[in-house]
Amino acid sequence: MTYEIVDHTYDIVIVGAGGAGLRAALGMAASGLRTACVTKVFPTRSHTVAAQGGMAASLGNMGDGDNWRFHMYDTVKGSDWLGDQDAIEYMCREAVPAVLELEHFGVPFSRTSEGKIYQRPFGGQTIDFGRQMTQRTCAAADRTGHAILHTLYQQCLKHDTEFFVEYFALDLLMDDDGVCRGLLAWNMEDGTLHRFRAHRTVLATGGYGRVYFSCTAAHTCTGDGNAMVLRAGLPLEDMEFMQFHPSGIYGSGCLITEGARGEGGYFTNAQDERFMERYAPSAKDLAGRDVVCRAMTIEINEGRGCGPQKDYIELHLEHLGADILHERLPGISETAKIFAGVDVTREPIPVLPTVHYNMGGVPTNLHGEVVTKRQGDPESVVQGLMAIGEAACVSVHGANRLGSNSLLDIIVFGRAAALRATETLHRGEGHPTLPDEASDRAIARLDRIRWSKGKSGAGAIRLAMQRTMQRHCAVFRTGSLLKEGADRLDEVIAMMRNDLGVADRSMMFNTDLTEALELDNMLAQASVSLRSAIGRNESRGAHAREDFPKRDDEAWLRHTLSWLDQDGRVRLDYRPVHLQPLSNDVATIPPKERVY
Ligand SMILES: Cc1cc2nc3c(=O)[nH]c(=O)nc-3n(C[C@H](O)[C@H](O)[C@H](O)COP(=O)(O)OP(=O)(O)OC[C@H]3O[C@@H](n4cnc5c(N)ncnc54)[C@H](O)[C@@H]3O)c2cc1C
Repeated sequence: MTYEIVDHTYDIVIVGAGGAGLRAALGMAASGLRTACVTKVFPTRSHTVAAQGGMAASLGNMGDGDNWRFHMYDTVKGSDWLGDQDAIEYMCREAVPAVLELEHFGVPFSRTSEGKIYQRPFGGQTIDFGRQMTQRTCAAADRTGHAILHTLYQQCLKHDTEFFVEYFALDLLMDDDGVCRGLLAWNMEDGTLHRFRAHRTVLATGGYGRVYFSCTAAHTCTGDGNAMVLRAGLPLEDMEFMQFHPSGIYGSGCLITEGARGEGGYFTNAQDERFMERYAPSAKDLAGRDVVCRAMTIEINEGRGCGPQKDYIELHLEHLGADILHERLPGISETAKIFAGVDVTREPIPVLPTVHYNMGGVPTNLHGEVVTKRQGDPESVVQGLMAIGEAACVSVHGANRLGSNSLLDIIVFGRAAALRATETLHRGEGHPTLPDEASDRAIARLDRIRWSKGKSGAGAIRLAMQRTMQRHCAVFRTGSLLKEGADRLDEVIAMMRNDLGVADRSMMFNTDLTEALELDNMLAQASVSLRSAIGRNESRGAHAREDFPKRDDEAWLRHTLSWLDQDGRVRLDYRPVHLQPLSNDVATIPPKERVY
């Protein structure tokens, strides 16, 4: 099938207009580099818009003596020591200027009575190296992501970033030397294909929460960039670690921010017991998310769940009073009304652990450059390719992300990628010729899916995948449960290969085709996630193996790398964790038991 292909050349092409993509775009465009930003949804509809609770930075505005060293300590501990300490140091130090920069760009943060940026408590946040809880999360009520995303979009327009809206990126264009030369995208409005040639291609495509049945992420969170990386023969990192959030609304999965507990909310079981006091005596309801989710799951499994089916937990906010709820948590009050029929000023919200965030993704260094393991070098830079945001694995979150560290991650590393590009590129450098095969491979995949003639629609196959992941790769895992899941997933993948049917063949606003392409992307990630989880015989952070209940630093203080070959086989390898911080201002935080 022949397509009309439109060619573009830029210094940089970014895929994704969430917080990460926009922060990078802004810095790159402002420095004079010709920057294109390709996005499958309108920029301000990216999932970042849904972020509620806020962004961590040790401003110390609440008078509790917070500083970046405590933030670094909490993040390393939160990561269950799998996070790279150099990257974590960088992020926590840069957090303070990052928030102030956002304020100057125009983000309308909530204020203290003194007029400073308001900060609320969030899970796992302490001062004095774990001794006392602190208030570190900078918030714009409970609509912080919304405020940040809209402000960044305005800044991008000011600096003449060129947007390609409702363009669906299909594949990276890699040359024979393994250098990334750009990407191929489909304009969903008029059906044309677009070949973007660029010196740097930046993946800012977000997470892949939608591989699960119940998740807080938008329907667009299908990890397309991660899948493009796998198809380019490159690895993903730490894909076994997915974060479940303690408070997804029972039934719909919509998020109630951890900020609700930060403001004083708490959980109870069917016996009206504040059970978190038993599991995390100090931090209680504000322990790490993995710890809280396991506690909730145990309560339900042992028969202390609420409701007629004994299958949910209750989140109480009614004691906070209508004024506080109205001022600080207006968005979730509305969400609870719409999705649970609950008036939060009077009754508790039924909640359940729900998939929320992907710690794993495209491995990068702390400049946002994609790395791979080759010829004995565990961090060999892939020329021309960068990744930032939830799509990337720097790794600052390790085995478990702390709440409000992701908005921070996307801003800090979006900026870092822009700085790196500015240092290493000059505006308007020439482009080498691009081999036709690069686009041919991408078009062959598009055609294979577009013309598929089987009997199963993308919706049915997607549901089979989501149920498999929800059942076999959730809060608690065992080797046999995971292996059964992998076998089941292989059947789903075979269904996709042999029996997918796309009914609509057109190229204009063909949602049937878009969903099939996204499903193909998600299946690849589900596959490497399950295999990475089977590989890791220990429990760490969000990866809780009942058959290996202990963390094993001797064998497993290392990152998983996973490749997927063209026949769907997964290969695993590992790279060391960086225990050494970036500077001499701080010492390595040595691994120890993680208690809250
Ligand atoms: C409900 C919710 C609440 C949250 N609250 C918080 C919070 O309070 N604090 C916090 O720190 N974190 C929070 N998080 C996590 C955080 O919001 C996300 O991790 C972060 O916003 C991800 O930003 P991103 O820029 O990497 O990706 P996204 O914002 O997901 O953007 C992805 C972009 O990629 C584009 N894209 C994807 N695939 C393609 C393709 N094939 N072609 C073209 N474009 C493509 C999309 O159009 C989009 O523009 C929350 C997450 C959720 C789901």
